[in-house]
Amino acid sequence: MTDDLRELYQEVILDHSKRPRNFHGMPEANRQAKGHNPLCGDRVTVFVRVEGDVVRDVSFEGAGCSISTASASMMTDALKGKTTAEARALFERFHELVTADPSKAATAAAELGKLAVFAGVHEFPIRVKCASLAWHTLKAALEGGDRASTE
Ligand code: ZN
Repeated sequence: MTDDLRELYQEVILDHSKRPRNFHGMPEANRQAKGHNPLCGDRVTVFVRVEGDVVRDVSFEGAGCSISTASASMMTDALKGKTTAEARALFERFHELVTADPSKAATAAAELGKLAVFAGVHEFPIRVKCASLAWHTLKAALEGGDRASTE
């Protein structure tokens, strides 16, 4: 990764952590789950409104480090209007990206668009759990669970 790219990625993450999108509760949610990353202390609740097979709306609440907040913010932005199958596929790609199986990470990054800014976290194993917390919580919510942990 070039320094320019790294800087751009940091700006995007900083922006989303300072001004998280879709950061609110959702009384009309019909799926929700709480997630906890004990390693860092991040906590997140993900709210999803699923209609038919489509994610109509998604939001989150919680408190955590800038990586976990930015990741949740960008995840909610990316998921609106996706089918639940597409949402699960994005989860898989994101997981490949941050755990950086080098053979898959490049393809994953191409499919993830803006979410590829999290590619850098694989260099910091402790941060992988921060970045993936919201996604694990989303997956739990879609599968009808109410709790997710990065452990
Ligand atoms: Zn964290």
